Amino acid sequence: MAPDLYLDANATSPVLPSAIAAAVEAMEASFGNPSSSHATGLRAKRILDTTRARARRVLGAGPGRVLFTSGATEGIQTAVLSVLCAVRERRAAGEACGDLLVYGATEHKAVSESLAHWNRLLGTGLTLQPLPVDATGRHRLDVLRDLASRAAMVCTMAANNETGVISDLDGIARVLRASGSKAYWMVDCVQALGKLPLDLANTRIDYAPFSGHKLHAPKGIGILYVRDGAPYTPLMIGGGQEGGQRSGTENMAGIAALGAVLAALEEGTTFRTHAELATMRDRLAAALRDAFPGIVFNAPFEHTLPTTLNFAVPGVSSKDLLDLFDAAGVRVSAGSACSAAKAAPSYVLDAMGLPLWRSGGAVRLSIGPLADDAFVDAACVRIRRCGEALRTSPLAGGNPGVMQVSGDGRHGWIVFDEQTCVALDPPPGQIERIATLARDAGLRLVEFDAADRATVALDDGSHAPCMAIGGAVLARVPDGWLLGEAQDGRLPRTAVRHVFGAIDAARLAQVAHDAAVICHVTDVDGLACATMHAVRDASTPGQLHPDTLDVFLRRHADALLVDVREAGEAAAGAMTLHGRVAHHVPLSRLAEYLPGWLSDPARPIVFVCRSGNRSAKAALCLHRAGHAQAWTLAGGLALA
Ligand code: PLP
Repeated sequence: MAPDLYLDANATSPVLPSAIAAAVEAMEASFGNPSSSHATGLRAKRILDTTRARARRVLGAGPGRVLFTSGATEGIQTAVLSVLCAVRERRAAGEACGDLLVYGATEHKAVSESLAHWNRLLGTGLTLQPLPVDATGRHRLDVLRDLASRAAMVCTMAANNETGVISDLDGIARVLRASGSKAYWMVDCVQALGKLPLDLANTRIDYAPFSGHKLHAPKGIGILYVRDGAPYTPLMIGGGQEGGQRSGTENMAGIAALGAVLAALEEGTTFRTHAELATMRDRLAAALRDAFPGIVFNAPFEHTLPTTLNFAVPGVSSKDLLDLFDAAGVRVSAGSACSAAKAAPSYVLDAMGLPLWRSGGAVRLSIGPLADDAFVDAACVRIRRCGEALRTSPLAGGNPGVMQVSGDGRHGWIVFDEQTCVALDPPPGQIERIATLARDAGLRLVEFDAADRATVALDDGSHAPCMAIGGAVLARVPDGWLLGEAQDGRLPRTAVRHVFGAIDAARLAQVAHDAAVICHVTDVDGLACATMHAVRDASTPGQLHPDTLDVFLRRHADALLVDVREAGEAAAGAMTLHGRVAHHVPLSRLAEYLPGWLSDPARPIVFVCRSGNRSAKAALCLHRAGHAQAWTLAGGLALA
């Protein structure tokens, strides 16, 4: 398999080699506690002081405070706590402080959730007020103008993590000044470090949280800038570290590593310039346009960081695109990493007013300022390969083939051969997709028109209208269809291999045998297909773990490795594990292959997919159908 190309730098970034070296040095030679007064402690203290001095210079912190935190989330909590405590005090002294906590509608959840949490906990009773953005993702300054005089705090990020949209901080500052707003202003600078110029002391910004892991330092280290004179309340109290402003023994390995990243920023040759990154973005965008001709970019390039591309492809879900990219070894994400586990449309893109297909189908590709031309070349090659792979038809190689097409919780089934395809009970939302699949595969999509069909005799004595497809016949029965090999105008129950629809159980027993695969209209016991004699107990199929797969395959020379990823994914990156090339049967074609596997019950079948979810489903399906050697590779290819 091809090595990873990591294009998800806005989620996190690999640690700079000099930062790793600095962290190791801080853990080995300079492991002291910076609060100790002996020489070992003083050596650690020097790392702390040097890193802080560098941070001051890089951020343009002037007389402001520069505190080390565990990351931006802690910095945000501290800023919010500080503001709300100050508001409480000022109100107690009879001062009007405003009644709104204004935050950009596209802020990271750490901001809106912190505002809600501390406002509730401290009982400050302020109203959370999202500040809308326009279609380009920039804050609506006209709305801010109306809200500014009522705002106790304003939170507007420097650049958005999902879209890369750069905020008009000068414009926001002008509005706050012109309205005479006394609001405290926090700017989440996480995505700005190393990508945008910073001169914090010369701005109106009161609080600016940063996160090391977004710029090649490890996770668990961050910085909070606090303007000189801005209120401050420690979040953590204890041993008095950081001048009593953030207690807890310092994360010295993280601080040393961050120091190395800041040194690289100051020295100026390690990271690419804005112009260099913009050229790389243009090349990536060109490759994406070649790969996916209908692509739309979700934020205009003139207002975005050159390191972030957010896009959607009409007719292709973000999940399918992510699976495809992952198969090609290209690591991208659908929006923010924090929301990656929730399959919801992006609230950031929703706030920009984009239609559902763009917010729900969005993919974020982000590079870091360490990227070089060779990396971008390789990424462009793989992106173009993904485009070709996406055009691989899933309707190939069946005689006849059976494919599941699902939507809105319903399953439809396509039966096809080399010329023709028939859609059985297609979910209404999938009809257009099926037509496209058929057209792309060069197949004629035909209706099952019973009127002038030949008939086939069934074992219950009836005659069913039928059509020939592949080497089989598809027969229409009340509430469903039967697919099997007819002999001399008869389709005996033992020759029925597949049953579709919701046929009455008593009738089904007369026209099909126990081992026929029933293709359901909706999931039954969590599965789209099963045999009539399905195992209904709570037993589960076997699980193999990445470290046991090799031994298992050596012990079972006849084991069949089955790649259940979809056609495009397999085309983007074929699967070979421990020298064995996997046989490709996409999960959507599982029903077609079940009868074959069931006819060889002693042969172990090991299902594999990207992360272990689809393979678990396939193994469960085969297991319930009565195969005692159904296995899934837990964790999938990702861990293999
Ligand atoms: N703010 C933004 C814009 C981010 O992208 C992130 C990270 O995803 C955070 C805040 C939270 O940062 P951390 O992971 O350092 O807590």
